[in-house]
Amino acid sequence: MKEMQKEILSYLEKIIEEEKRLARKGEIPDYIEEVDNNDHGAVTVSLTSIDGTTVRAGDYEGRFSLQSISKLFPLALALMDHGSEEVFKYTGKAPTGNVYHSLIQMEMQEREKPLNPMVNSGAIVMCGLMKGENADKKVDRILALARDLTGNQELTYNEKVYEAEDQDLNRSLFYYNRHNGYIKGEFEDVMPVYWKMTAIEVTIEELSNMAAVIANHGVCVHSGKQIITKDVVTTLKAFMITCGMYDESGSFALEVGIPAKSGVSGSIVAAIPGKLGIGVMGPDLNKYSNSIAGIRMLKKISDKWKLSIFSED
Ligand code: GLU
Repeated sequence: MKEMQKEILSYLEKIIEEEKRLARKGEIPDYIEEVDNNDHGAVTVSLTSIDGTTVRAGDYEGRFSLQSISKLFPLALALMDHGSEEVFKYTGKAPTGNVYHSLIQMEMQEREKPLNPMVNSGAIVMCGLMKGENADKKVDRILALARDLTGNQELTYNEKVYEAEDQDLNRSLFYYNRHNGYIKGEFEDVMPVYWKMTAIEVTIEELSNMAAVIANHGVCVHSGKQIITKDVVTTLKAFMITCGMYDESGSFALEVGIPAKSGVSGSIVAAIPGKLGIGVMGPDLNKYSNSIAGIRMLKKISDKWKLSIFSED
């Protein structure tokens, strides 16, 4: 192992140790605790640089569901299918101050489209909009993209997590948006896509591989293949920095300064353009439904190597 890699590894091991010593004091959603495969004491981190080198530390063997990180997939596919002019007829571009499954802002603005594609309503609308004759075809396209991004061609979703995702709040978001004309398809052609994509399971290294593609302008750092077009990567990064951490996105931008998307499994994908992809995981969530350990580790990594995209150093 090269000197530089050793140095990075020893820093990552240090921050994992610090996290392990801290008392767990967040919440884990019940259904995740019951059916997700992950060890709920797990804390792990993986860095993949755009030259393809990966350094990981902590409990990196386990798999966990992507949850809201998967919202990047139907957005990327809808943008590549239809172009941004068409896509933004169906979703807004504004950050939210509300919880991720909120109905309130759409109602207040009277039949307004979802605020952005990183909240549940926007992601459900994107699952409707992306091309695919039925749910199975759409899920196949999402899995193909996720497999290319993570480098694991066997990647799939966890059946039990998928079943547990079927909850009334998201059903209501589907019907509300269909009522307002933002979804054209049938329930069974859209909602299984949303639920299955949130249940896709990855390892932390697969998550940092995915982040590295975003950091590397849409090109896989291992195969050299262009997986997502450059203009779509630009849009993904913009939404990650403005909306990726739910209603904590503003303070995360100030304190960490890295385009990122979190999921309620406690995972976060983060991409430093032109440099590095990062995956972090720690299941306990704060009141914004973001990983407590994940944010803390990302802040330490950002500070240590001055990775904030807003840094003047
Ligand atoms: N399964 C979650 C839901 O749609 C995903 C949310 C998340 O990770 O924020 O409710």
